[in-house]
Parts: sequence; C-alpha cells; structure tokens
Amino acid sequence: MDLFDRLDEHDYEKIVFCNDGASGLRGIIAIHDTTLGPALGGLRMFPYETEEDALVDVLRLARGMTYKAAISGVNLGGGKSVIIGGSRSEKSDSLLEAMGRFIEAMGGEYIAGQDIGTGSHDMAVLRGVTRHVSCVPHHAGGAGDPSHATAYGVTCGIRAVLEAVTGSDDLAGRHVAIQGLGHVGAFVARYCHEEGARLTVCDIVEEPVRRAREELGAAAVAPDAIYDVECDIFSPCSVGAIVNDRTLERFRCAGIAGAANNVLAESRHGAALMKRGIAYGPDYLVNSGGLIRCQEEVLGAPTDDARIFEKVSQIQSQTRSVIRVAEELGIGTEEAANRMAEERLHEARRVGKAWNTLRNARPA
Ligand code: NAD
Repeated sequence: MDLFDRLDEHDYEKIVFCNDGASGLRGIIAIHDTTLGPALGGLRMFPYETEEDALVDVLRLARGMTYKAAISGVNLGGGKSVIIGGSRSEKSDSLLEAMGRFIEAMGGEYIAGQDIGTGSHDMAVLRGVTRHVSCVPHHAGGAGDPSHATAYGVTCGIRAVLEAVTGSDDLAGRHVAIQGLGHVGAFVARYCHEEGARLTVCDIVEEPVRRAREELGAAAVAPDAIYDVECDIFSPCSVGAIVNDRTLERFRCAGIAGAANNVLAESRHGAALMKRGIAYGPDYLVNSGGLIRCQEEVLGAPTDDARIFEKVSQIQSQTRSVIRVAEELGIGTEEAANRMAEERLHEARRVGKAWNTLRNARPA
C-alpha cells in the first residue's frame, strides 16, 4: 500500500503510530478530519493478522466517524484508534495507560471512546492518564455506556424507514426482525416491543434470546435463518457487511435499519437494495445516538437524559430527509447521506476559511 497516496485520496489529516516496549503497546491513532471539531471515535482492540490490516481498519473507521458527525449535526471531527492484540488475553491497565499517554500528548485533537474490545472500565483506566476520553463510567465522572442512546436512535431510524415504505411510522402491529441482542440490540428489541411491534430475534449466544422470548414474547430463529424472515423491518445489530452477494436475494423485508456499522458489504449493495425495493436507513446516521451522547459528555454538559434523547430523536427526521433526497436524485440512501455529509463539511470549510481571512484582515 502506498500510504501517502491513500491518505491523499480521502484527505486524512494525521496518523500517529503508538509504540511502547514496556507494556507491549502497538497502536495507531488516525485523524481523518477536524473541520467540525476535535476528532472523536472509539478505541478498538483487535488481534489483527497484519499491521496493514490494522492500518486499513483504523483509516476506514476514522473516515466513517467524520461522516457520522457531519450527517447527524454533531460538532466533532472524525478519528479512531486501534490497539493490535486480543482484548481477552493481552489487555492490561499498563497497556491502556500507555495508549492514554499518546492520546493525552495529542492535546485534545483526538478523543477516545469505547469500541469492539474495549469497555467502560477501560475508559476509566484511560481517564486516569488523559482528559480526552468519553464513555467514562458514572462513578469516574462520565456519562457511561452510550448503547442506550444508540438504541433509541436506531428505533427512530426504524420508524423513519417504516414510514417511507408504509406511509406511517407507527410500529404497533409491525414485524421487526433483530439480528444480535447485545448492548444495543437488546434495547432496540425493548423499544420496538414497547411500541407494539412483533419481534423475531436471533443471536449466537443463547441467554439474550431466551430473555427476549420470555420478557418480550419474541420469536427466535437460528442466526443464519434471520435473513429469510418475512417482516416489515430487518434490524442488523451485530456485525457489519450483512448485506452482501450471499444474502441480498434472501431478504423478505420492506426496510433495513439497525445499529451495525458498515451494513453494506460494498456500496454497490445500496443500489441493489434499491432495485429490490427495500428501503435502507444509512447505518452511520441511524446509529449516531451514541455519538450524540458522547458529544454532550465531552462538552461537559450535564448528562440530562431527556435533553439528549430529544436530540437523538431527530435521527427520525434526518433519516426521512435522506430518504427523500435519495428518491429525488434517484440514488441509494447511503450515497445521498454521503453527499449531504460532504455538503456540510464543504460549507463548514468555506465558512471557516472566510472567518480566518476576516480575522487575519482585522487590525490586531
Ligand atoms: P455487542 O457486542 O454488545 O452485541 C453484538 C451482539 O451480536 C452480541 O450479542 C453477539 O453475540 C451477537 N452476534 C455476533 N455475531 C452474530 C451473528 N452472526 N448473528 C447474530 N448475532 C450475532 O455490540 P453492540 O455494542 O450491541 O453493537 C452492535 C453493533 O452496533 C456493532 O456493529 C457496533 O459496532 C455498532 N454500534 C454500536 C454502538 C454502541 O453505542 N454500542 C454505536 C454505534 C454502532
């Protein structure tokens, strides 16, 4: 890979390679774009097979955060960090503290959060060495796990997609199939149930499925059978790339909206869904509730749930706008979301440039 060409292609700002022999840390921090504010994004710990795999992942994820903030009206930039290693076998406080010192040295340009392989305990450890961290548990002075806010936003996205395909956003009597009942999916199931939806669920772990059956009256299917469930909304809340060549023809839903990142294996799958008449709520907009919560935390705003959830509820109207723009332009919803996010970034850059010119022209 020609690294600088790759950075140029998508205008990345900075990459920091983090190496600490004493703790065994090998990590990377990628800043994609800080036009809208300091770059916020999770710290992922994963046993990447090669260093190049880690680099490719952190670059892709950092850019995704820029678009997520831009489309959801959040004044933050896009960044991400990764630690190479197994989170179960190789994670230690000294490793996290070493990573935290690299984050602190960036002076607030990058703000970490939790991601795959890290949790709120790890954020508390980072908080011991840097102020630039979100998702810190309540006992350590933070706002805690953002999954609840993410799930609420996903439910708002589900309503918008439902409205696009049925003319009504009322979930009562509708059938929602949920793939994955983890931190987010379990709450999505609860919200949809409270709004009167009928549920079919799956997970590779038995316990959350049992609870959904007993507590929410959900039907359960084997993980791979979820694609064949005839339903109004399919909600992917586990892994990414689940809309792919293998699954595309199997979907029996009217719309897709969920928490998982990178739901489309490739961007061409967005157009393929459109061709099949399946409405799609772009993942990075629909799952931006957690980011909205993190923004409040890093701004130091009191974590007033009612106010945060009010903001998160705007995901419904934003998803509706994206679907409308996609219809008007005859393009897929993800492409429409990308264009709208880029428009906001372009406008922010233009205003920023004008402001700097004005400021520099003023007498001191
Ligand atoms: P999680 O790890 O708590 O939950 C994922 C669940 O999916 C687990 O219960 C797991 O057993 C299940 N699962 C894994 N493979 C599966 C398969 N093949 N079929 C069915 N179930 C399977 O993760 P989470 O925090 O709930 O996040 C879910 C998704 O949403 C992830 O892709 C994450 O990146 C994304 N996301 C999460 C947040 C957040 O606030 N937590 C925010 C934005 C995006």
